[in-house]
Amino acid sequence: MNLLLKNALLLDLDLGGEGSPPKPGLEAGDLRIRDGKIKERGSLEKEPGETVHDCGGAVVLPGLVNGHTHLYSALAAGMPAPPRTPRNFHDILKLVWWRLDRAHDEASNTASALAGAMDALHCGTTTFIDHHASPECIDGSLDMIEAGLAKVGVRGLLCYEVTDRNGRDGRVAGLAESERYLGKCAKSSGGKYGALIGGHASFTLDEESMAALADLAVRHKSAVHLHVAEDPCDEVLTLSKYDVPLVDRLERHGLLGERLLLAHGTHLNASDIQRANAAKGLRSAHNTRSNMNNAVGYAPIGKLKIPVQLGTDGIGADMFEEARTAWFKSCDGGAGISPDDVLAMLANAARTASKFLGVTLGRLAVGAEADIVVTKYIPSTPLHEGNVAGHFLFALAARHVTDVMVAGEWRLRDGALTSVDEVRERQEIAKVSKALWQRLEGIKP
Ligand SMILES: [Zn+2]
Repeated sequence: MNLLLKNALLLDLDLGGEGSPPKPGLEAGDLRIRDGKIKERGSLEKEPGETVHDCGGAVVLPGLVNGHTHLYSALAAGMPAPPRTPRNFHDILKLVWWRLDRAHDEASNTASALAGAMDALHCGTTTFIDHHASPECIDGSLDMIEAGLAKVGVRGLLCYEVTDRNGRDGRVAGLAESERYLGKCAKSSGGKYGALIGGHASFTLDEESMAALADLAVRHKSAVHLHVAEDPCDEVLTLSKYDVPLVDRLERHGLLGERLLLAHGTHLNASDIQRANAAKGLRSAHNTRSNMNNAVGYAPIGKLKIPVQLGTDGIGADMFEEARTAWFKSCDGGAGISPDDVLAMLANAARTASKFLGVTLGRLAVGAEADIVVTKYIPSTPLHEGNVAGHFLFALAARHVTDVMVAGEWRLRDGALTSVDEVRERQEIAKVSKALWQRLEGIKP
């Protein structure tokens, strides 16, 4: 599409150069889009054959990236209560999520991804860094997730959650699916879909499994996307089962560095944090609302010097809301971070997705992918380079998103999805959810 976005208030989340931390910015200007990328930025005139979209002086920002999530939980809203009330985090996993993931089949895997992707586009989220589990439907499951995302046109950096909690066959099938999808994406990703290597958490992965994950990461020059110290049970069970502290175990497998995307890190102790900060290339994902919902505590994001990216951990894909809550929690929890640090967490998610998808996301820069969110946000108070985070965290919201483009294609126009009939899809998804919940109710913890 030959397109000129005119009269925009360009809100940058990442003006940081390579090796420097992200920093936000603001500038009035226009963007010229060609072949799915941003070709020019500045004060631009219409060229022949070009369609002009007038942004009316409203805020335009790069497509947002959900830095850690589980699309398989997109059909969980209002689902049947667990057989008893969970007493702790391990209970929540056993009684809720490890039953839901076992209930998934091909139809519900794809429907979950589609439902999550539709929600995301309305919120200006254009890329998922997803962590998938469907133990009764492993082979090809990442294609099912990809199919759901592709239907509405959003990007995905996907992985299958390898674990030993479903026995050896489950582990072997999870590794096979990981390797299959890594191979597929290496051949034909086109920047839209890519693969990481998923692991559940140290406490459900035996030595052979951890070694296999690390081996895949090295051979495919990728990274393991792993839950780490989300709850104290990870450290306690790792120590009792494998006789080694959690971070030592990661290090022993060569994972404490660029081969790891560490989700949560809620219960990293002072020494762990020091070692994490010294680990070159290590990155982590923070999920404020999920941590609050599971009552697992507050991740030490103020002490981490490695890039921290923001994710929803399955609580939708509204990164405005997640960022706002991350800010409130940082104030309440005394993290000592700045509003710009919260925006940097959004930018860091885009940096991770960029690295593994092989394209530039999260920037309104020449050469970057044209993943662009047009809003109707016309600030009622002065908005300038110095107070971007103040507007982002206290005023900008998903309700302001009107039009969203991914790779230069409009995927949301005037609040409506362009690729699918959303009402019809929702009706079909509701039928799939009903069947999913029926299966769920028959699954014992
Ligand atoms: Zn998670």
